[in-house]
Amino acid sequence: METQNLLVAGAGQMGAGIAQIALQVGFHVTLYDIAQPQLDAARARIEAGLDKADKRGKLVGVTLEQAKAALNSTTDFSHQCFDMVIEAAPEREALKSELLARLAQVVKAGGVLATNTSSLSITRLAAASGRPEAFIGLHFMNPVPLMALVEVIPGLATDEATRAQAIAFVTALGKTPIVCRDVPGFAVNRLLIPMLNEACFALFEGVASADELDAAMKLGAGMPMGPLALADLIGLDTCLAIMEVLQRDLGDDKYRPCPLLRQYVAAGWLGKKSGRGFFVYG
Ligand code: NAD
Repeated sequence: METQNLLVAGAGQMGAGIAQIALQVGFHVTLYDIAQPQLDAARARIEAGLDKADKRGKLVGVTLEQAKAALNSTTDFSHQCFDMVIEAAPEREALKSELLARLAQVVKAGGVLATNTSSLSITRLAAASGRPEAFIGLHFMNPVPLMALVEVIPGLATDEATRAQAIAFVTALGKTPIVCRDVPGFAVNRLLIPMLNEACFALFEGVASADELDAAMKLGAGMPMGPLALADLIGLDTCLAIMEVLQRDLGDDKYRPCPLLRQYVAAGWLGKKSGRGFFVYG
């Protein structure tokens, strides 16, 4: 794949991760956010990540200096056009719909507009963007530099060229694409997030402490990290948003979010990114 211009909208944990791995293989990346402090924190994280990637020999066709210089961060994306745009803003449909309609204006003809949504309908977001044929879901996993999978989710109107370009892009990043149907939660979160929600219920009901529940699943089920620590890593607001989508869009109350999860989010205890969730982070 030729060097291309990529816009990543949303400089949180996912946006920064996507930007980093694209820089590692020679993309020019513009990172957009509404909050300058988020952009500053993301740049620091990306540069540290690139240093590590360089030491591990993970830069492809690009030097460390070139990769760092290819990152541009901004609070205004409206004056440029891009080959590929990936939206990684919070998991709120109204916010994404409004943002995607603006992002669609800066995708070049023949380019791709993607969303990193964890659970929302790709077909609905595609319609909101106004360019449904060029629209696709690219669901990266957290932490992006470490996780091999990207779910590729065409919407009803996504055309064949967009699907092919999206798969080529994921492959160029060194990730493994899996094409999923546009159903709530796709494949990974349909299975994973209800399990994390169930761990919240187990804590809520006093089955065991948070430490014990996590140890149980690490030692007893071979999970590399416990479900509550994983929920903290994903972000409790994101976990809650996904459960709400599963419950609403699948129409089944077996997906109801745990009240404890709601309380933590209401308290601003969002997990690792806010310093406190089920565990406390320095
Ligand atoms: P985050 O809270 O870490 O980051 C969101 C960023 O978006 C913040 O920097 C915020 O300032 C910015 N933002 C808010 N409003 C914006 C707007 N209107 N325009 C541009 N930027 C805006 O969230 P995250 O964990 O990076 O999640 C982002 C998306 O990726 C969500 O859709 C989420 O569901 C999805 N996702 C998350 C994970 C995960 O494990 N956290 C995994 C896969 C996909």
